[in-house]
Amino acid sequence: MRDTLVLNASFEPLSTVSLNRAVVLVLQDKAVVEQAHPELRMRGADVDIPVPRVIRLCRYVRVPFRRRAPWSRRGVLVRDRHRCAYCGRRATTVDHVVPRAQGGQDTWLNTVAACAEDNHRKANRTPEEAGMTLLRQPFEPTPADAMLLSLGQEEIAALPDWLSRDAA
Ligand SMILES: [Zn+2]
Repeated sequence: MRDTLVLNASFEPLSTVSLNRAVVLVLQDKAVVEQAHPELRMRGADVDIPVPRVIRLCRYVRVPFRRRAPWSRRGVLVRDRHRCAYCGRRATTVDHVVPRAQGGQDTWLNTVAACAEDNHRKANRTPEEAGMTLLRQPFEPTPADAMLLSLGQEEIAALPDWLSRDAA
């Protein structure tokens, strides 16, 4: 996966995002391409743009300093790129690693994206109790990541197929 560097409107580097998210931000006029790969272009029915290496947000965003990113279900799905933490298939639900019935909280470190089948199978059990293995550990996004998540989260799910491929 090739990542794209994101600059604030003030040109200060903020974070990196996936190529898909970078393209979506550009297509939605939320960012402009500052530097592109010389040879590569992304082409679709109505679109023909250079593959961005660096993009810059059109509006300045104030990044909270050391503030924790607020937890949300949608944020968890975007953080995990809509991939199930147990099987890797497309996830549409959020699973509590330690179930709420056992005192598990709505936190970044206790929640993962999960497909409906695995979420149902796991039910009110921990992964150990259910005999299921986490493919990756949940993590807390940085505030800058959370800001970018909030910019892109609706649009990622609606990406056309031709953009969903990684231009590798
Ligand atoms: Zn699954």
